[in-house]
Amino acid sequence: MERLIIIGSGPAGLTAAVYAARANLAPLVLAGHQYGGQLMLTTEVENYPGFPNGILGPELMEAFRAQAERFGAKIENVDVTRVDFSVRPLRVWAGDEEYAAESVIVATGASARWLNIPGEVHLRGRGVSTCATCDGAFFKDRHIVVVGGGDSAMEEALFLTRFGSKITVIHRRDTLRASKIMADRALAHPKIAFIWNTAVVEAKGEFHLQGLVLEDLVTGERRDFAADAVFIAIGHDPNTEIFAGQLELDKAGYIVSPDGVRTKVPGVFVGGDVYDIRYKQAVTAAGMGCKASLEAEKYLEERDAERALSLRG
Ligand code: NAP
Repeated sequence: MERLIIIGSGPAGLTAAVYAARANLAPLVLAGHQYGGQLMLTTEVENYPGFPNGILGPELMEAFRAQAERFGAKIENVDVTRVDFSVRPLRVWAGDEEYAAESVIVATGASARWLNIPGEVHLRGRGVSTCATCDGAFFKDRHIVVVGGGDSAMEEALFLTRFGSKITVIHRRDTLRASKIMADRALAHPKIAFIWNTAVVEAKGEFHLQGLVLEDLVTGERRDFAADAVFIAIGHDPNTEIFAGQLELDKAGYIVSPDGVRTKVPGVFVGGDVYDIRYKQAVTAAGMGCKASLEAEKYLEERDAERALSLRG
């Protein structure tokens, strides 16, 4: 039986692992097949403190992992498929493999949202993508569309200027949600054009994307729009399917916690984007992972003390 299992290996999960490992808990991190979380899909991270010249997302996550392993964290690249938090010890499964633990930190993060429009599933990986770092290079000298008006969309659009002949950002409103610095960079870029108040309502193409259908949200008019690729950057949904019925989730699927650390199940803690609908930053996720780990440590200490008392009694 494990003292502590950490589910997830983004900044929250791996920070929790560093702290728990340094507290001699030898935590087991069930990292997922694609370990490292969302930063594995980004390029330059410019706002993680301590890196004045920026650092590549995957490099940052390698450093997190190495630091956790240095102090004795065990990391398995498996996807958790089921949990049972109604029993003691707590149970976690990855396929047929069963794990038992006294405490668990849930740090499964969030995944990119899709538009759910006709053609999107069929053309995924064939011109429709949510990851510019993964797929951008396939569209050299092509016309690329980015959907969204937040920081992710601006980041994707700016990154894609390395490849595309032209980038068109399509946003459903007439103002950007992105931070000023990112918005200004994108608005000033000669390769980036904007289409406002417009929704992408269909992706067209048989074997690869050939065009989009756009709807003007002011007039309701629809029109065809030629594009070789579309990158959807409209936010994220928390990865909480496996916790339904086990932990309280809010309407959007985020884990409910009274203090942002504890869940309603004793011994189960939470950290990072799986809880945090508001900030969603690598540095805030890391801070939450730290808090979750310190609380898990305290919980285990108290359990040990109770056990020692009852043995003596
Ligand atoms: P976000 O801030 O929630 O923005 C999502 C964007 O997509 C919004 O503009 C939203 O439109 C649009 N959208 C949502 N659903 C849509 C739909 N169904 N159809 C069309 N458009 C849709 O998400 P994000 O950009 O992924 O950023 C999330 C967090 O990560 C933010 O806190 C952000 O600052 C941070 N982040 C930071 C960086 C950086 O600093 N380098 C990079 C990436 C992300 P509305 O504006 O109309 O709501």
